[in-house]
Amino acid sequence: MDDTVDNWAVKRATMVMAQLKERGIRDTAVLHAMNIVPREVFVAEAYKSYAYQDGPLPIPAGQTISQPYIVALMIELLNLKPVDNVLEIGTGSGYAAAVLSRIVKRVYTVERHQRLVDYARDCLHTLGYDNICQHLGDGTQGWPEHAPYDAIIVAAGGPDIPPTLRGQLALGGRLIMPIGRDRRKQRLIRLYRLGYDKFSEKDFGPVAFVPLIGSEGWSPTVAER
Ligand code: SAH
Repeated sequence: MDDTVDNWAVKRATMVMAQLKERGIRDTAVLHAMNIVPREVFVAEAYKSYAYQDGPLPIPAGQTISQPYIVALMIELLNLKPVDNVLEIGTGSGYAAAVLSRIVKRVYTVERHQRLVDYARDCLHTLGYDNICQHLGDGTQGWPEHAPYDAIIVAAGGPDIPPTLRGQLALGGRLIMPIGRDRRKQRLIRLYRLGYDKFSEKDFGPVAFVPLIGSEGWSPTVAER
């Protein structure tokens, strides 16, 4: 296959049209970001030819890069503004962080696997994106130093919304996360922080994510069986 830059750009534009616009993604900032961030850079050599397929793909440490549509949907549901600071839990390949970084002021992203922190750093460095801060640790504890966040996106499924993450949301802030009692099946939930102790929640249907492992998520023994 021909791996020229033009060829990738055509595949990317086709993905945006067929997988995102056709399914109802409308936010022009999200569509633009998805149209300029090269997903092929975040995918291992063996899977590069599948970079614009309509599904998740394997990345190191037994994790996955999410389906393009899910990345776009979650980001759209956050109603982001260019001035926003966003916290992402689950850096993985760094792809979603890259998309977010084209929409908002700054992205803070936390990952529990050192191998993926390094992998994502390499990918993001290749692209020269410099408004993304990475951190190794348990993302269920957020990243208190830079809180509060205008938006929080959790890219792994947990049994509940971690109370610590609720506390790191700005007033008027939004959080999106897959929630489910089954460690491989969840529902996509969006939370709005309306006041100090006032939140509203909305359910956006069934999804399937890798488990969120941490002190306010699944325990490693349960989740990594
Ligand atoms: N956003 C990623 C998708 C990552 S998949 C991308 O675009 O490629 C979910 C990631 O969450 C995995 O890399 C997994 O290791 C990570 N993860 C799971 N539990 C975590 C936790 N408590 N803190 C930080 N990262 C976590």
